[in-house]
Amino acid sequence: MSSIQMVDLQSQYTKIKTEIDGAIQEVIDQTGFINGPQVKKFAAELSEYTGASFVIPCANGTDALQIAMMALDFKQGQEVIVPAFTYVATVEVIALLGLKPIFIDVDPDTFQLDINQLEEIISPNTVGIVPVHLYGQCSEMESILSIAKKHGLKVIEDTAQAIGSKYSFSNGKSAQAGTMGDIGTTSFFPSKNLGCFGDGGAIFTNDATLAEKIQTIANHGQKQKYIHETIGVNSRLDTLQASILSVKLKYLDTYSEARQKVAASYDEAFGNVPQIQTPKRVLNSTHVFHQYTLKVKDSLRDNLKQYLQALGIPSMVYYPIPVHLQKAYQQFAYAEGDFPISERLCEEVISLPIHTEMKEEDQAYIIQSVLKFFKDGK
Ligand SMILES: *Cc1c(COP(=O)(O)O)cnc(C)c1O
Repeated sequence: MSSIQMVDLQSQYTKIKTEIDGAIQEVIDQTGFINGPQVKKFAAELSEYTGASFVIPCANGTDALQIAMMALDFKQGQEVIVPAFTYVATVEVIALLGLKPIFIDVDPDTFQLDINQLEEIISPNTVGIVPVHLYGQCSEMESILSIAKKHGLKVIEDTAQAIGSKYSFSNGKSAQAGTMGDIGTTSFFPSKNLGCFGDGGAIFTNDATLAEKIQTIANHGQKQKYIHETIGVNSRLDTLQASILSVKLKYLDTYSEARQKVAASYDEAFGNVPQIQTPKRVLNSTHVFHQYTLKVKDSLRDNLKQYLQALGIPSMVYYPIPVHLQKAYQQFAYAEGDFPISERLCEEVISLPIHTEMKEEDQAYIIQSVLKFFKDGK
């Protein structure tokens, strides 16, 4: 048996090697490495795919978040609400811009920010909310958007893990992750659902004025070369990466389906194991399974992880420490016990291998091994 990986990028590449290699070679032949025509082409394709009116490519998903907050004119000292249970990048840019992260706990079943706690933490100093569509499904956007509107707050959707996921509103309309708030951000880090061969990111908006601002900030604050209107950053998507992403975007729906199939098999296999909880779905969202994340009860998570590792099965803990308890964020004076759900999830969650090239026999082996762990009484 070939070794099982969390994400198998090699096999994925092999299947589309001719197309990818051709796209890369074309960029090399043209030597348009920076802002070559493939960047605009990919942006247009992604706009078509997501339904976002404007797509501005940038260097990575972290930059995308930072540029979004700069474009919305968030000022030093103002407050931005962000889940305590997320990847650090979301909070990092808030702190870097001199803003104040106001953490919020998450729903214990869906892992998305808990909308029931949202209104009580909004202050006159709050300017924005950053829902993180964690693991591949949308946060409860209808409630988030309506609360944001009521309080005059901006919404930036961190869509790094959920590209292609769809949310349905009660009026029957639906929209893709990243296209519902004022701005959406995403990442093309290789292991993300739409991954390139290095770093990459993009920013979505439906607002033409904001789009122009975002574009300007991402390009050193200039619209015209050497005329700087605002302080910006240098954040570009490489032409090579854009050419790769154009190829992979065509397969994104197929990739999502492959992930959903793996998830469905896990769900079925683990549904009746009392010590584990399979991932619950947000009612109005589809799930593209960036991660398949179980909750393990009775403090058995670490034992399970070791057990699987000994059998050659990798697993990951996203995330072992909630951001409010990270050393780097002590200045914001949060303490243990402030966000009990996030803290407990850090002890209970485990993500199993899921990717677009999962072999049935590999998944069967993973499933058998997990079941055996619980049956044998660890
Ligand atoms: C990956 C990720 C990011 C950062 O993306 P990079 O491209 O690595 O900078 C931000 N937020 C979340 C939730 C992520 O998973």
